[in-house]
Formats: sequence, structure tokens, C-alpha cells
Amino acid sequence: MDLSALEALQKNSKRSYNDQKAIIKKVLAGRAVSCKVCHQPIMFNMANQNQPAKVCCAQGCTDIELDIS
Ligand SMILES: [Zn+2]
Repeated sequence: MDLSALEALQKNSKRSYNDQKAIIKKVLAGRAVSCKVCHQPIMFNMANQNQPAKVCCAQGCTDIELDIS
């Protein structure tokens, strides 16, 4: 196991977690955020029987579940 690779991976996932939190905050504040992949607007979706509340774009490449408990 290459430890430095593992550390880089952990840093990356932490950064993307912070990015996701920033996106959620902006969307919930009513600000326009566009998906980095498809450049479509990211919307807030209320929870329903089938899925938790999340923010996602129309294409689904940005799809972040809100960890509200
Ligand atoms: Zn997208």
C-alpha cells in the first residue's frame, strides 16, 4: 500500500466534501449554482418516499444527498 497515495486520496475526498457543503449552502440560500460537469443549474429536491432531500442537476452528474438527521 502506497501511503502517500492514500493520503492524497483522503485530502481529495475531504476537499470534495467541503465543495459539496458549499454547493448545498448556496443552493439553500437561493443562489444560482451551476453544475461543474454539465453547467446546468443545480436545484434543491425535497425528500420523498423514494429518496432523501438532495441537491442535483438535471443530468444527475451533481447529486448530493443532504445529511439532515
Ligand atoms: Zn450536471
